[in-house]
Amino acid sequence: MAEPWERMIAAVKDGDVRALAKLITYVENREAGWKDAMKVVYPLAGTSTVFGITGSPGAGKSTLTNAIARRLCDQGFSIGIIAVDPSSPFSGGALLGDRIRMRDISVDSRIFIRSMATRGVLGGLCQAARDVARILDASGKDVVIIETVGVGQDEIEVVRASEFVMLICFPGQGDSIQAIKAGTMEIADLFVVNKADREGADEMVEEIEAMLTLSGQEGVQTPQVMKTSSVTKEGLDDLVTFLRAFMQTKKRRDRERGLVREEILSLMEHEVSRMVRERLTQDGRLEHAIERILAQEVDPYTAVEEMLQKFSIPTPGL
Ligand code: GDP
Repeated sequence: MAEPWERMIAAVKDGDVRALAKLITYVENREAGWKDAMKVVYPLAGTSTVFGITGSPGAGKSTLTNAIARRLCDQGFSIGIIAVDPSSPFSGGALLGDRIRMRDISVDSRIFIRSMATRGVLGGLCQAARDVARILDASGKDVVIIETVGVGQDEIEVVRASEFVMLICFPGQGDSIQAIKAGTMEIADLFVVNKADREGADEMVEEIEAMLTLSGQEGVQTPQVMKTSSVTKEGLDDLVTFLRAFMQTKKRRDRERGLVREEILSLMEHEVSRMVRERLTQDGRLEHAIERILAQEVDPYTAVEEMLQKFSIPTPGL
């Protein structure tokens, strides 16, 4: 008997969209065998380009994502979109559904849209995005777009799973570029000043360029600043041309040393942390330590040190 994930992967390879959705849920929920599934998915992936789109709420990210997806699709590319929402897992996902229903592209079978909540994600948000992007990649998508709602910590973490990050700004966004938070600038590979049909777009481009020149480091190429408008369609074709150029010249992400290192550490951290929690809970050591701390026999620092000294992580197969 084939494992459930084996059947799902076989169906995904045949282009079954429902199986694709099921496989993603299966891996996201870390169901039994999810790692075996990812071991099979991994070598099937590696050809798609993963873009990240982030920026303040209202910047026009969804509209722009739709426009990019539509254009790339018309040029013959297949697209997967991961829409990241800062929702609670208890809200039942109604919010996510609404956001997807609003998209005119959601009816296009060549574009697969998947939402991902920022909370309650097993194994870490960035890894979850990596896994989903990889599954979409293995299913044959040429392009995967990870789109966030805002630019909070969670969102910055999640776009780290992409190869190329676009930061969407717009004129009238608070104190213009002062509103682009520190820590956000650094992740951008491209700045897009959207809503170029509005007053102040050119000034914003100049401000960002000036800031980039100031903070630029020698030998490091400063990101480009582009202008777009979903109303007049200005700059949309140029943006897509720019993205296509990146797709052609980029190296394979799974061969990038820094990304591989980050992924190993992230997987390792979650595995070790899960194992530690499980073991300490199962054998009653955690409860015992709590009792001792409450009875003022020991402090938490010493208790952890003592537990660590006795802790050994089993290494099956070694
Ligand atoms: P998101 O929150 O960043 O995803 O932003 P949305 O794509 O939902 O857009 C927020 C609002 O801005 C919506 O009312 C859009 O119709 C509007 N909008 C999006 N792009 C443009 C644009 O290029 N120009 C103007 N004037 N409005 C835009």
